[in-house]
Amino acid sequence: MMLVSRWQAFSSSIFSKMSQLAAAHQAVNLAQGFPDFDGPAVIKEAAIAAIRGSFNQYAPSTGLGELRRQLAARQAEQYGLQYDAASEVTVFSGATEAIFCSIMGLCGPGDEVLTFEPFFDCYPAATAMAGAVLKTVPLRGPDWSFELDDLKAAVTDRTRILILNSPHNPTGKVFSRSDLLSLAQLAQEKNLVVITDEVYEELIFTPARHLPIARLEGMRDRTITISSTAKTFSMTGWKVGFAFADRKLSELIRIPHQYTVFCSATPLQAGMVAALKLGQEYYVDFREQYTRRRDKLLAILRQHGFTCKAPEGTYFITADYRQIRDVPDMEFAAWMTEKVGVACLPVSTFYADAAAAQESLRLVRFAFCKEIGTLEEAGRRLAERLPQALAEPGKA
Ligand code: PMP
Repeated sequence: MMLVSRWQAFSSSIFSKMSQLAAAHQAVNLAQGFPDFDGPAVIKEAAIAAIRGSFNQYAPSTGLGELRRQLAARQAEQYGLQYDAASEVTVFSGATEAIFCSIMGLCGPGDEVLTFEPFFDCYPAATAMAGAVLKTVPLRGPDWSFELDDLKAAVTDRTRILILNSPHNPTGKVFSRSDLLSLAQLAQEKNLVVITDEVYEELIFTPARHLPIARLEGMRDRTITISSTAKTFSMTGWKVGFAFADRKLSELIRIPHQYTVFCSATPLQAGMVAALKLGQEYYVDFREQYTRRRDKLLAILRQHGFTCKAPEGTYFITADYRQIRDVPDMEFAAWMTEKVGVACLPVSTFYADAAAAQESLRLVRFAFCKEIGTLEEAGRRLAERLPQALAEPGKA
């Protein structure tokens, strides 16, 4: 059988490729963004109790009622955003499925989806699956700002959706209130639905603040706010994500969900009910720990010749490596993994035209969702092996 053409461009994911390369070379894997520690035991115990109890059959397609109530209560308490748990909150198998169902639910062939570049890799794949067209507008480093005129110029009468991701993977940018106000105004002028991917909402570093765009005037009813328990509770493998949207939009995104996944794993949803009952001290500790990890990795990278800004949010650092070697980022990332034993991701793979991006970018992404000991091991390898690798013929 031939690969169906619309999947051609997506046949292998860089995340899996770099993780395989990291495993083959026993590299410290700072490429893929999953923690090397688990979330609180109380969440695991709740899921285990759910399995031992009576949470082993299909959940309602929209999610366990108790989980949806907890999610609605949290969105109200944290951001002052009110959603009806029955008709406006939906549980998905990860934010990925929520994004996929949102695009599939709202777009048809020929419709256009607008997003910023660099972008998380599931946006183009989900857009292609819907038969829609992805248009991108650049975020420009080093501060990853954008030009509103670029966005305006990219909107056509087929544009249905603007996908926003804040805090932003891979740049660590947190969109400011004024960024969001201009996007909100554009969305209202052009009648766009905003899909906002907020999976890193709790990974925010002082003084940055996370503001959901749905909070801005006129935005609640045209915004699908997507987030996930994956990063907030360090359980990326559980794939429990969720979306908040006005009733009419919720109806649309629930249809693809009903006929693909139908419902997320029931006992894991029950486990996440316990997660949502964790108090403020959990979040304070979470941010403290991540601030320490971020500062540790920043210091290590800067010490070894990378130029990097402290990310305002997420658990990623994008690092400019041109002081070390001036080669395309694919080559640099593979060399780091094989010769230095520290895996990272080439940032060009977050661009629609990765080949063109490779020409101009000298950026790799490191994940710091790792134990301090893991980051220190990366530091030791950089100290010991980087000079050796650079001393190899032809590598200076
Ligand atoms: N959105 C972004 C921006 C991400 O970085 C990730 C995970 N890497 C996801 C969505 C996926 O979240 P989940 O695991 O809940 O599907």
